[in-house]
Amino acid sequence: MSSMTLPYQEPLVPREPGERQIPEPPRRGEEGGPPCMLCAGKATAAVWSDDKWTLHPPVGGSLPGAVWLAARVHVDSFSDLPGEHQADFGRVAARVERAILALGDIGRVHLYRWGDGGAHFHVWFVPRPLGMLEASGMALPLWEDVLPNVPDEELRAAAERVAAGM
Ligand SMILES: [Zn+2]
Repeated sequence: MSSMTLPYQEPLVPREPGERQIPEPPRRGEEGGPPCMLCAGKATAAVWSDDKWTLHPPVGGSLPGAVWLAARVHVDSFSDLPGEHQADFGRVAARVERAILALGDIGRVHLYRWGDGGAHFHVWFVPRPLGMLEASGMALPLWEDVLPNVPDEELRAAAERVAAGM
């Protein structure tokens, strides 16, 4: 049985989805959309990098230890990555996961690849605090949104500890 619980008081009332927007508006880094923040050098500075990947801290978050991994090349999704990147992703994801777990007090590391905001390949690694079973599964990003933010300096310091463990 799952202990997952939404971070809202009940009763929640389901709503109908709105009108579909087709074609969808262009995303950052997509033709016709705003410029890619990563390629423009406007993303948060990387705490770690190698020849294929860069690792970045979040801003305005509530879970220290969260990081996002980006490809150095501007491509959209897994199927667009060069073969070497595809083959290397599991290796680098394992290193990031291990480095986050080494921070301690973490139950599990969740990976999210949404792709709805920007068209430059990046994957989120988000630690679920140890024992916080209500934030299991899909509830973690909702809890992340609702919990009070911690200072960006603290998020960056935790990401630097992750980088040191890579
Ligand atoms: Zn880009």
